[in-house]
Amino acid sequence: MASIQTTAGGVPVLILKEGSKENKGKEAQKNNINAAKLISEVVKSCLGPRGMDKMLVSAIGDVTITNDGATILKEIDVEHPAAKMMVEVAKSVDNEVGDGTTSSVILAGSLLEKAEDLINKHVHPSVIVDGYDAASEQALKLLQKIAVKVDVKNKELLMKIAMTSMYSKLVSEDSPVLSKIVVEAAKQVSEEKSEQEEKEQQHKNGDYRLLKVDLDNIKVEKKAGGSIHDTQLIKGIVLDKEVVHAGMPKRVENAKIALINSALEIEKTEMSAEIRINEPQQMQMFLEEENKMLKSMVDKIKTAGANVIICQKGIDDIVQHYLSKVGILAVRRAKESDMYKLSKATGAKLVNNLDDLMEKDLGSADLVEERKIETDKWVFIEGCKNPKAVTIMVRGGSQRVVDEAERSVHDALMVTKDVLEKPQIVAGGGASEAYIANELREWSSSIEGRAQLAVRRFADALDSIPLTLAENAGMDPIDTMAGLRAKQSKGPKWNIGVDVRNLVVADMFKQNVLEPLVVKEQIIKSATEAACMILRVDDVIAASKSGTPSSPAPGGGYGGAGGGMGGMGME
Ligand code: ADP
Ligand code: MG
Repeated sequence: MASIQTTAGGVPVLILKEGSKENKGKEAQKNNINAAKLISEVVKSCLGPRGMDKMLVSAIGDVTITNDGATILKEIDVEHPAAKMMVEVAKSVDNEVGDGTTSSVILAGSLLEKAEDLINKHVHPSVIVDGYDAASEQALKLLQKIAVKVDVKNKELLMKIAMTSMYSKLVSEDSPVLSKIVVEAAKQVSEEKSEQEEKEQQHKNGDYRLLKVDLDNIKVEKKAGGSIHDTQLIKGIVLDKEVVHAGMPKRVENAKIALINSALEIEKTEMSAEIRINEPQQMQMFLEEENKMLKSMVDKIKTAGANVIICQKGIDDIVQHYLSKVGILAVRRAKESDMYKLSKATGAKLVNNLDDLMEKDLGSADLVEERKIETDKWVFIEGCKNPKAVTIMVRGGSQRVVDEAERSVHDALMVTKDVLEKPQIVAGGGASEAYIANELREWSSSIEGRAQLAVRRFADALDSIPLTLAENAGMDPIDTMAGLRAKQSKGPKWNIGVDVRNLVVADMFKQNVLEPLVVKEQIIKSATEAACMILRVDDVIAASKSGTPSSPAPGGGYGGAGGGMGGMGME
């Protein structure tokens, strides 16, 4: 495009390399806004329990069926820089709080759509950005105001929150079973914070967080077959491995477990060494010596009192033989991450050098057993006492069902973690969004200048959540929104939302549609950030070489570059 500009004196200045593309001012803004809106259109129909699913087909023909916003956007290959930013919104929300990805993309899209209206009416983007920032700050305050503190010991309530995140998934019918497992797993691995940590937290955001939940300590395994009802919580770890030697026991009760990080083999030297053997006796001696060393390894394990060993490295055939002779169950080449989890679950210490192995390093489990699931063999280490790492074994009719069930379990685990760590919730079904929208509209009149218009648009954008929920459920959007506003003006306002299962406007707390406060906060924060970032761009410069698109330069960025290259003027 126009890569030749002229100075005040009319001398043409070549700023960009030939072939570069530049897209400026309103045109660039329109283009970016449109791209971002398109992305939000893609996921819009997925929102909520009545949302549709997407079938994603990869280049090699793999099929994924999901309605998880983050998963959809991760799989599709977008090229437009503004569209990529929308994908980033979903990713950041997914990382931070694990749920609310679709909502955040829809909100960002809606914020941009409303901004476009204002831009067309000659409101400057910076004014809109200011208005949006102010509105978002006020919205977060309002959210905090309506949030309800919950008791983290109330398992029923935690299950309702986990279930809400699953209502919108393929597995919604099985959510009672799955939510129970999810809540038990999250509670099991939660750890109380030390006072020191807690103080630091209080310092930072003025609220209290007493528990810490590290989801790395929950191993989620999946295996197609059976039904979702066969999904199990194992108080211990399940390894996708078999017992290493046919002669070993396949079942050990009251297991005393040794976790060994080193190989149970004779180490090969780094340098190539040569052993010259001249006589047959020497050969015999050499082999015997080797045999003795290997046997002594087994003796050490036996002396320590272990009847199960899990080894991160290999186990020599001869060691396997001796282990089986003394009735020890062994698994080799366990993953490093699994070794840590095993240590957390069984209380065993990870031993790097076999010589250090002592009785006190051993962990315990009620049962270690090799079991066949479908065609594969797995080793279950279960019945651990107060394990700080557990396994969820997800089952389901087909591979696609288990895949989606696993994603839903992930979302449910995340919301449970969110609430355990910050025990505050708000009503779902668009209730909190609609309430905040109304409050913002009122508040906007206190703002002077055109930023007021932006605050109103922000409120309208928030309405897109209940609106989309209603639309996806086949409810009349206008009637529903009118009903919602009317009902919110009376009664317990911020709980009234769109109940899409019964197709009415109702109290969402009574319907048990409950969401963590942090999820709602993150949706607003991330969506506003992305929308404002896109609005600030007024110049998109793409390098000429394909495959290396430059990132969109912030407004005014090109001016500096132009100044620097002024000397390159052409005659
Ligand atoms: P996200 O990726 O944003 O979490 P979902 O497809 O999971 O998107 O939909 C979440 C939305 O669905 C939330 O606003 C939540 O309050 C709403 N929701 C969940 N269950 C219900 C229900 N029974 N009735 C109405 N809305 C619901
Ligand atoms: Mg969700």
